[in-house]
Amino acid sequence: MRKVDEECFCGAKARRIKTQLELYDGNVVINDVDALYCPKCNQELLTTKDVKKAREKLKEILPGFQAFSIRKKITKVGNSLTIPLAKELIEYMGLKKGEEVRIILKNRNRLIVDVA
Ligand SMILES: [Zn+2]
Repeated sequence: MRKVDEECFCGAKARRIKTQLELYDGNVVINDVDALYCPKCNQELLTTKDVKKAREKLKEILPGFQAFSIRKKITKVGNSLTIPLAKELIEYMGLKKGEEVRIILKNRNRLIVDVA
């Protein structure tokens, strides 16, 4: 049986390596992630299985963590626009009313909210 997972898309033989995955702008780093390396493309590749394993590791690093992505509508309070935060997120992050956060404008499409 041909081992598909040891071949790159380009057809060259890829080898098994351990790599480091950086997520969330480098705020979360997963070490010892199984991946493939193609010397011809000079690229690291993750098979579906590798991604699954990396996700398991992420859960160990951040217990109870699930990649949080949710669509919310902007609402208006007085003259300001606000974005309601989900209860789960508030509990997970331990946020309190009146707490100060730092809002960083990354670009026209991205805001980062730093707590503490
Ligand atoms: Zn390749």
